[in-house]
Amino acid sequence: MNICMVGTGYVGLVTGACLADFGMHVICVDKDEAKIGALQHGHIPIYEPGLEEIVTKNERAGRLRFTTDLKAAIESSLAIFIAVGTPPRPDGSPDLTFVRQVAEAVAEHMNGYKVVVTKSTVPTGTGKMIEEIFRASNGRHDFSIVSNPEFLREGSAVADFLRPDRIVIGASDARAIEVMKEIYSPLFLIETPFVITDVASAELIKYASNGFLAVKISFINEIARLCELMGADVHDVARGMGLDRRIGSQFLHPGPGVGGSCFPKDTAAAADLARHHGYRFRIIEATMAVNRETKARMIEKIAAAVGPLAGKTAAVLGLSFKPETDDIRESPALAVVSDLLAAGAAVRAFDPAAMENAKAVLPDLQCASDVYDCASGADFVVLATEWNEFRALDLEKLGRLLKSKTMVDLRNVYEPREMKAAGWNYSGVGRS
Ligand code: NAD
Repeated sequence: MNICMVGTGYVGLVTGACLADFGMHVICVDKDEAKIGALQHGHIPIYEPGLEEIVTKNERAGRLRFTTDLKAAIESSLAIFIAVGTPPRPDGSPDLTFVRQVAEAVAEHMNGYKVVVTKSTVPTGTGKMIEEIFRASNGRHDFSIVSNPEFLREGSAVADFLRPDRIVIGASDARAIEVMKEIYSPLFLIETPFVITDVASAELIKYASNGFLAVKISFINEIARLCELMGADVHDVARGMGLDRRIGSQFLHPGPGVGGSCFPKDTAAAADLARHHGYRFRIIEATMAVNRETKARMIEKIAAAVGPLAGKTAAVLGLSFKPETDDIRESPALAVVSDLLAAGAAVRAFDPAAMENAKAVLPDLQCASDVYDCASGADFVVLATEWNEFRALDLEKLGRLLKSKTMVDLRNVYEPREMKAAGWNYSGVGRS
């Protein structure tokens, strides 16, 4: 089957490459000529473990191609996936401009029956909007609208796509469901649960899932705050909670706030969507407020450990919003860097993959060549993103390079007792 993937970003490129690996013939389209040019020359524009191998393998097998020619890609495909960005507007509502543009292009270039699949995260009602665009174009051809939200996580996107917890398919006709089942047949064979529902429910499943996960992280971040006030240890509290199977242990790790391109955007969109339907989604609104406070609180935590920040130099380890990605969108680490700079501190940073992206938004950011170069001569270290290589630091060497053995560990990578025993002025999140 020929598939067209419109939008070749974190989701589109991973989805396109993995569907090619399932045996589909996939053509990935993007309007960003530099990105497509790089891909045509074998360069992967994002850092994502395992992605290069699967792209190269499927390109060589002739199942994966890249183009900026949307018209030709639409004409040659049965299923057209929309995987473009849906960034937040200043009021929190998702900007559907790119989705609308793609829908209009598909309506214009349709040359036969097409299944139009929304992979982008979009508010309930978007499927209807796309349908109206198609109807307004008075085309002669049949079409089906499908919602197929994506749940992959950056940093483990390929593995997540190949072994998902579930596949959600929202559609209103049997023909489209059959096409989707064929596309995902390798996952059907390994008994991945399929949730087949109507378009509106599928669209809402994505916001409900991300909203719930954001609530869970924000909840443990508030428990961490309580632990600090009460002299308790959030790791023990989280373990004690998480062993209850009704709660579960995942997403109970405290930190510097929820970041990334999805959770902040999708919670804001869920609140906006509810407002549009005359309802206040109070749990989500509270979650967003807690998250803002959690991020803002990190600079106070650093100042409490270090004293006045003006004139001091911070060594910041980690810039991406989570490990194993170069994505810095809504990164709590970058918020910490900005707050340190605003407080008059100098910042030297190191990240295994995200320094280039960080410098694009903070051009004056000083970046180091490795952890120890970063720490050399700095007053204190802030561990902002828990990359694996920060988990086994040579702490003796690090301590010798710093002006004082002070670490603010916003990801609770190290054990407070051991750090204190080794002479560190150490503070984590929610650990007395
Ligand atoms: P991204 O910014 O990495 O990629 C989007 C791509 O779409 C860009 O390369 C852009 O140039 C391209 N594009 C925009 N308009 C276009 C057009 N008219 N024609 C062709 N290409 C166009 O975004 P992303 O992180 O891949 O996210 C895409 C969607 O998937 C969003 O709705 C997001 O919420 C959702 N999502 C993201 C993740 C994630 O972890 N990143 C996970 C699940 C769902």
